[in-house]
Amino acid sequence: MIHADGLQLINFSSNDYLGLSNHPMVVQAAQDALAQHGLGSGASRLVSGDAPVFHELEHALAEWKGYEAALLVGSGTLANIGLLHAIAGRHDVLFTDRLIHASLVDGARLSTAKVKRFPHRDVGALENILRSTQAHRRIIVTDGVFSMDGDIAPLSELMHLAMEYDALLIVDDAHGTGTMPDPRGACAMAGLSGSDRLVEIGTFGKAFGGYGAFILGSQPFIDGLRQRLRTMIYSTALPCAIAQAMLVALGLIREGTLTARLQRNIETFRRCSEGLPVTASPTAIQPVILGEDTRALAMAEKLRKKGFFVPAIRPPTVPEGTSRLRITLSSLHDTEEIAHLLEAIRTCLHE
Ligand SMILES: *Cc1c(COP(=O)(O)O)cnc(C)c1O
Repeated sequence: MIHADGLQLINFSSNDYLGLSNHPMVVQAAQDALAQHGLGSGASRLVSGDAPVFHELEHALAEWKGYEAALLVGSGTLANIGLLHAIAGRHDVLFTDRLIHASLVDGARLSTAKVKRFPHRDVGALENILRSTQAHRRIIVTDGVFSMDGDIAPLSELMHLAMEYDALLIVDDAHGTGTMPDPRGACAMAGLSGSDRLVEIGTFGKAFGGYGAFILGSQPFIDGLRQRLRTMIYSTALPCAIAQAMLVALGLIREGTLTARLQRNIETFRRCSEGLPVTASPTAIQPVILGEDTRALAMAEKLRKKGFFVPAIRPPTVPEGTSRLRITLSSLHDTEEIAHLLEAIRTCLHE
């Protein structure tokens, strides 16, 4: 539920995919830690802001995701901007999918590396660019699950190219983490976790129901970042209460029932959405493509009147002519709510 303009609307717009932001155990863990440690960390981790719980959480995340090491960062946006800036310089080339998250685009700009974009999920086009590009270091950059389309990067093929062209592969799996049939996300589903050519980013802002982010990689890579990641070094450490709560959230995700419930809702949505202009997204992000932005806005407004909060997404967030409703499913929805939403969309499309 979401409150807007005095209305109670069923929320189909949140990235809190597992309802963990309000889970009693997560909230309790944060409250206990607040009582013990207070709110702010007071300084960067490199000064006096470090705490044992950050290291405990890093170890737990690395072990769960199948990497040697992890590094906590203030947010996914800070992770992406800092990461590309830290590892790429002007003799390097970043090969980026056209639909990567805005924070990766900004990180690429800040890095001073040359950027070569390839068409969305087009492995053939990427190979052509890789073949014809000389670089000191090649870095392929993609989302795992794409935030506006809900489709999944062809990670096995991308890793294949990374090996063939001696490149590093960076995967931002903000939306895959906690939501996919293997809750560890897209890299684990592709069997790639822990490869020394792979760096993965995850955030606590989505399925973890919190705030903050983490970078996963080999031990030497993460050790290097601890010295070079300016968005971590020059930024106040996360509140301990968040880290403590995210440890509990991780335990709940690992237990598996919440993700299984979300997966059932995704199946229900896909089964019941036949005939609608939905893409074949296999994830919790289900776009309904409407074309003109006026059409998407009008549809969002009509749905609001029927009791559903579904945002219209327009350019420049998505390409011109692909304005859409971006529906996100959560483990908290039930079959009836999903069926009612789809019925409402059908009705509005025919009006
Ligand atoms: C949300 C998101 C981010 C940003 O993460 P925050 O923790 O919200 O800053 C980065 N990348 C992708 C793909 C995202 O969806």
